[in-house]
Amino acid sequence: MKRAAAIAFVVLASVSCGGQEPVASHGPQGSPATPDPSTPAQNPTGSASPEPQPATPSPPAFQSKVSKISRDRLPHSWRSGCPVSYQDLRLVTMTYWGFDNKPHTGELVVRDRVTDDIETVFKKLYDWRWPIYQMKLVDAYKADDFDSIEANNTSAFNCRRATGSSNWSNHAYGEAIDINPRENPYVTASGSTAHQNAKKFTERPMKGKGVINPGDKVVKAFAQVGWEWGGYWSGAKDYQHFSKGGG
Ligand SMILES: [Zn+2]
Repeated sequence: MKRAAAIAFVVLASVSCGGQEPVASHGPQGSPATPDPSTPAQNPTGSASPEPQPATPSPPAFQSKVSKISRDRLPHSWRSGCPVSYQDLRLVTMTYWGFDNKPHTGELVVRDRVTDDIETVFKKLYDWRWPIYQMKLVDAYKADDFDSIEANNTSAFNCRRATGSSNWSNHAYGEAIDINPRENPYVTASGSTAHQNAKKFTERPMKGKGVINPGDKVVKAFAQVGWEWGGYWSGAKDYQHFSKGGG
């Protein structure tokens, strides 16, 4: 009798289990409850593996894209009478490493024949995690060089005259770039800068995030593609400035 009762119990139990299964599978709401108990059950065996995962995401590899640029992307920086047609300019969209220690996507406009130089150098900067504060077209500042510098913006093409000159700047040809202008100011021969926020960066050499120094790897990377650094000028120094062939 006892055995029969036991058998009856087993039968009842299996029937009730079988009865529960359809209930559990009735809707998706039931299913999250099912994995939950199994997840902690797996944790004791693999408790080491789930924890490091958030700490190990590696930043994406350097990416760059060169494309033609339409006239309407350059409403302020290009106009008729500039020494280079906008059709000879290219938009370089690429990854850069930020001051916040994170990857970002920036935009630069340069002459078509120097896009390889730019991609070569900026891939190195990114792989070194050499930080750049910001990289937007100067049109974000209505092509106002002072405002772009004040915002510590890295930019290249701008159809404008050279500072203190009636000649076209190399920026007007799309063959010059200014990098982290706050940390790398234009310094007059007497040692001053027009930007209050750059006053503590007028000396060289000096340590600091995004600072360019004589003979450092940034200067060398540009030199390898034929771009000269404005920090080597005599008299006034333009620490932010690199240009193809100098000037
Ligand atoms: Zn410049």
